[in-house]
Amino acid sequence: MKIAKDFSWEMAHRLQCHKGKCFNLHGHSYKMQVEFEGNIESSTGMVLDYFDVKDIVAPIVDELDHTVIIWEKDSILIEKISELNSAHVIVPFETTAENLVGYFLDKISKANLAKEITKIKVRVCETENTYAEDGLEL
Ligand SMILES: [Zn+2]
Repeated sequence: MKIAKDFSWEMAHRLQCHKGKCFNLHGHSYKMQVEFEGNIESSTGMVLDYFDVKDIVAPIVDELDHTVIIWEKDSILIEKISELNSAHVIVPFETTAENLVGYFLDKISKANLAKEITKIKVRVCETENTYAEDGLEL
C-alpha cells in the first residue's frame, strides 16, 4: 500500500554548469510529492499517519522555503547573497531537481520511520511540466 502527501515551497537557485538560461539566478514554486510504501498497521489501519508525514517532511521543506539554495562551489553567489543578508542554504551539489530528490530522500530516510515502511519515493517539480523522481528501499 502506498500513501503520499504534497508539499510546496518557494526557492531561488541557479545552475552554475548550465549553458543556457538556468545559469541566471531565478526562482521556482517547487512542488514535491513524498510517497511511503508499506504494510497497513493493523492497530491504526494506516501505513503512516498523514500528520506524521507532515511532521517529518515539513521541517525539511521549511529550511528551504524563501531561501536561495547554492552549490558550495558557487563561491561568487555565496559571497553576494551573504552581502545582501538574504537567507540561503549551501549544499554540496548542483541544485538540479534530480539532486534535490536525493537531498530529500536522504533526509526523510533518516527520520524515525515505522518499520512497516519499506520504500520512500520523492518527486520534485520545478515547473508544471517537469519533474524528477527517485525511490529508496529501506
Ligand atoms: Zn531553475
